Amino acid sequence: MECVWCGKDQIEESKQDCYWVLPDGKRSVQIRQIPAVHCESCGLYITEEMNQKVEELLYLSELSQLPDTFTYEELVNAPKIQLFKIK
Ligand SMILES: [Zn+2]
Repeated sequence: MECVWCGKDQIEESKQDCYWVLPDGKRSVQIRQIPAVHCESCGLYITEEMNQKVEELLYLSELSQLPDTFTYEELVNAPKIQLFKIK
């Protein structure tokens, strides 16, 4: 795995806390311990791939049960909205 910004391969897996505005734009939450990478040159950041994954999870999850601060793990395990109900 290498840094997507500078291409260095000296990166470490890390975790980052991040503020996020929910897809409906009405609420902002703090998501803790999001898988991130740490590059010696670029610092700590969340990859575009992980960014999209979080967006997707926020879109699919039932967030009304969660407090304004939760961990990435809790988001992954949050109940998912049934977009298409099976009859
Ligand atoms: Zn870098």
